[in-house]
Amino acid sequence: MSWRDVGFWARGRLSLAASRVANRRVALPAPAPLDGVLRGPTTPLALVRLLENRSNAEREAAVGRWLASRGVEVDRHRFATFEGRGENLAVEVGRGDRTVVLIAHHDAVPGSPGANDNAAAVAILLHLLERWGPRPPEGVRVRLLFPACEELGYLGTRAWVRERGVRGIAGVLSLELCGVGDSLALWDASTPSPFLAGVRTALEGLGLVADVSYHVVGRIPVFGSDHRAFAAAGVPAYGLTVVPAAEATALRSFVFSPVRSALRHAVRRPPPFDTYHTARDASATLDPAALEHVAVALQAIVAAAGR
Ligand SMILES: [Zn+2]
Repeated sequence: MSWRDVGFWARGRLSLAASRVANRRVALPAPAPLDGVLRGPTTPLALVRLLENRSNAEREAAVGRWLASRGVEVDRHRFATFEGRGENLAVEVGRGDRTVVLIAHHDAVPGSPGANDNAAAVAILLHLLERWGPRPPEGVRVRLLFPACEELGYLGTRAWVRERGVRGIAGVLSLELCGVGDSLALWDASTPSPFLAGVRTALEGLGLVADVSYHVVGRIPVFGSDHRAFAAAGVPAYGLTVVPAAEATALRSFVFSPVRSALRHAVRRPPPFDTYHTARDASATLDPAALEHVAVALQAIVAAAGR
């Protein structure tokens, strides 16, 4: 145990307590029957129902069930520390000396359906796994990592990095809030890297334009995500989020002001933060085009990493 871990523990508990208070009067609707989702369509939006409205234990189990039903080899990594416990799940596709890690945490805060945070991201990666089944990526290995306990200061990923290491990893993207909006935002991306250059090339190859349809921004205060555990180990690692272009200015002032973001339960929040960590974070608020946009971008990023 280190003082850094104690800090994560304290911040994580505070954030969960805030969500519990804010969402206290809400009972979640019944989740979609799991068997129906397992046999149903594999569009990203349909796969959001795999996790939406379930408890964290059920979300973790549902991801495991889905992966097992696909016949892929699943790396199950259980961890338990004084901060919490859970299971990280990982699968790999493609072959190569270098690995790109794509992350989507499966847990949610109490009282939230957890659709945009973070069922949408999980659904996008499961959808990609399906697409890559018959035609795996070439020239690069892709690890899809589904950690537990992101909402406890990305505890699951810290445990993963500590125990599994980071050897051979070319770059990491952690998907957060990937279901609302039309512009991609790479964040915590203040340090250039060959991986980041490849991401830019891939996005521009799709016709996206820097500072218009995709944005690369520096370290964001208050908010964080799983990539930071890899960044702390010296790996190029960034957050990936979709945002509505029309909200770009409001979003900048919201996420880059530590005071506004810390008081996020009290101030008017621009989308996609209007539903973030609330009982309103339901799949009805998601835009299927946003999820599809992220899936296409990730395919291009992986293809570029393999060249
Ligand atoms: Zn999240």
